[in-house]
Amino acid sequence: MKEGVPLNPLFAAVMSAVTSGRRTCPKCGKTHTVSPLKKKQAVPCKFCGSLIPASSEGKKS
Ligand SMILES: [Zn+2]
Repeated sequence: MKEGVPLNPLFAAVMSAVTSGRRTCPKCGKTHTVSPLKKKQAVPCKFCGSLIPASSEGKKS
């Protein structure tokens, strides 16, 4: 992510979500960036330690 490059914030957010999976902790609500390698795995929350299942990655379409 380069700074100083004017990007549509929505576009940037979408790109960010696509390139690195983002996951919201169901317990504390914090958003994580998850490595693409782990996008199909449950990952522990960095903040509260609870496991965030891959399904919470959000398939809204
Ligand atoms: Zn958490």
